[in-house]
Amino acid sequence: MFENTSIYIHIPFCHVRCSYCAFNIYTNLSHLIEDYIGALCIELKQVAQKQPNVKIGTIYLGGGTPSLLSHTQLERILETIQQCFQVDQQAEMTMECNPEDLQSMQYCMGLYELGINRLSIGAQSSNESELQLFRRSHTAEAVPTAISNCKGSGIQNINLDLIFGVPNSSLNDWQSSVRYALDQNVQHLSLYGLELEPGTAMTKWVETKKLMESDDELMAQMYDWATLELSSNGFEQYEISNWARPSFESKHNLQYWWNAPYLGIGAGAHGYCNGYRYSVVRAPSKYIRQITSANYDELSYPLSTAVDEYYRVTAEDEMSETIMMGLRLVKNGINLQEFERRFNVSLLDILREPIEALSKLDLVEVTSNALRITGKGRFISNRILRDLI
Ligand code: SF4
Repeated sequence: MFENTSIYIHIPFCHVRCSYCAFNIYTNLSHLIEDYIGALCIELKQVAQKQPNVKIGTIYLGGGTPSLLSHTQLERILETIQQCFQVDQQAEMTMECNPEDLQSMQYCMGLYELGINRLSIGAQSSNESELQLFRRSHTAEAVPTAISNCKGSGIQNINLDLIFGVPNSSLNDWQSSVRYALDQNVQHLSLYGLELEPGTAMTKWVETKKLMESDDELMAQMYDWATLELSSNGFEQYEISNWARPSFESKHNLQYWWNAPYLGIGAGAHGYCNGYRYSVVRAPSKYIRQITSANYDELSYPLSTAVDEYYRVTAEDEMSETIMMGLRLVKNGINLQEFERRFNVSLLDILREPIEALSKLDLVEVTSNALRITGKGRFISNRILRDLI
């Protein structure tokens, strides 16, 4: 049904762990990077050998901090992908970067020459005290330099990430960060409400009352203000946390929200392809050992020997995942005809009662060909999804 598959590559190394971050990343394993790159290439080959001629529409190097890698290391990964798969000539190739790694024009030019055509930069805030609280290793000033280097090198498609709802921060602080992001003249913005993940430094500070958690009302004000501000500056909100200038939506992330296939490569990566959902072992050293030691003859596409857990997705799972992911797309919602073609049932028939109830509260709406969350429902989308599924 979907012509193209996407590839996500996980680079689990960072300079330091940010105070809010619970991702599968490591700050003391840089000595493993070379072996890890070799293991990624083996995993890519294992996956491709089971299924020749897979067409790839998007590639995403995420993490972690992929911008810790040298051009040679990135080249090894990208060349292996080109050798193993049929990569679309127009493929979107995104790399997540920290601003401090983009201070040299030479590094940015090297990325452009490798074919990377989209960068996602973790700016997070314009406020130095928030950046320190986050334990980010860059200042706010590093972002304009990074962007100017990227554009100068030829990479024009740039996303900035920002975080709102930071403990002790005011609406005013948030407004400054959004205006600073708008001043950078980029094509895409991702705005994330701070989540207090178990085990992070930020969560401990809040639990021990060193910091006051932002309340929901303030977070809703921040979100609503940003929504209006971005829309009056030419950005369209197309997903709950994502805004883009026309035709600059992230193609890679759209693949997730359409519940379409993607390969997850690297330690702790998740994938969804050929009817399987799976995750890869999390520890880089175990990943490196496992990818080279086990026998993969018995495994079906797209499972490699480094896969930790996997299961077959039932038709019912696929349907509810398609609804949950599709409703995040606040502009287009879930296309009703495509849903019926995919599952042979009408979405409006199977969810008639909750859709009617949520429509009466003005939280969802049915347009001529789609079901989508309304402006009023965007900030409480989790509750809406729970009521629907
Ligand atoms: S740079 Fe990103 S992945 Fe690394 S610790 Fe910070 S938030 Fe987590």
